[in-house]
Amino acid sequence: DPPPLYIITPTYRRPEQLAELTRLGYTLKHVVNLLWLVIEDANKTNPLVAHTLDRIGVPYEYLVAPMPEEYKATKRAKPRGVSNRNRGLDYLRANASEGVLYFADDDNTYDISIFEQMRYIQKVGMWPVGLVTKTGVSSPIIRNGKLDGYYDGWIGGRKYPVDMAGFAVSVKFLHERPHAKMPFKPGYEEDGFLRSLGPLANAEIELLADQCRDILTWHTQTKKNPPASPVNFTRYGQTNLE
Ligand code: UDP
Ligand code: MN
Repeated sequence: DPPPLYIITPTYRRPEQLAELTRLGYTLKHVVNLLWLVIEDANKTNPLVAHTLDRIGVPYEYLVAPMPEEYKATKRAKPRGVSNRNRGLDYLRANASEGVLYFADDDNTYDISIFEQMRYIQKVGMWPVGLVTKTGVSSPIIRNGKLDGYYDGWIGGRKYPVDMAGFAVSVKFLHERPHAKMPFKPGYEEDGFLRSLGPLANAEIELLADQCRDILTWHTQTKKNPPASPVNFTRYGQTNLE
């Protein structure tokens, strides 16, 4: 068997939720030796989500990790999916020994070839992400075959100005860093997590997607939909509403 993949997907209840999970789930279904960690920002699991995951048929764990109240209450930007991802890291610390972890938001788009490439990461791997900010791409910059900085529409003083969809980490490497976690700091989630892995030399960062020439992941965003009409009832879509 190839090394296992652990895909950590934060999710939360909204009209689009089951559609997003369905689309992502059928992408992941093309990938072998994968465990999908679906972690909902909620106090309890939702049977409709569990039913959807069962129907898709990808091996999964369905866990919950609510956003702390102090962040939920704020009118400013929220640290979306941070509780969920940290719960996923805890799960891996308790249950995984090898392979690679990847944070796959439920609304993004993934070419399955990136999963086959990321399995063999020894420490941290990175690659470009499309549809990030007005500039349209976030990517490591490669000069003479080597990592030489980052291109992103918003640098914001980050050491690692990368998108959540643009990196993956070896589970063994994570185990060697028991304090690594994602901060509740909007805009700085990726940077904070990567910094918490300790100093990384550019040469230690593996460059995937044909040395960052290919775009294989996209930060797609789904437009907000109105709650479905009771008249237009579908068994799985409609009933995921309050
Ligand atoms: N998310 C969450 N709780 C929230 C909002 C978002 O768990 O209150 C999840 C969401 O399902 C997604 C990730 O966190 O997997 C990032 O959220 P979103 O896609 O809304 O952020 P954006 O892509 O706009 O930065
Ligand atoms: Mn998103």
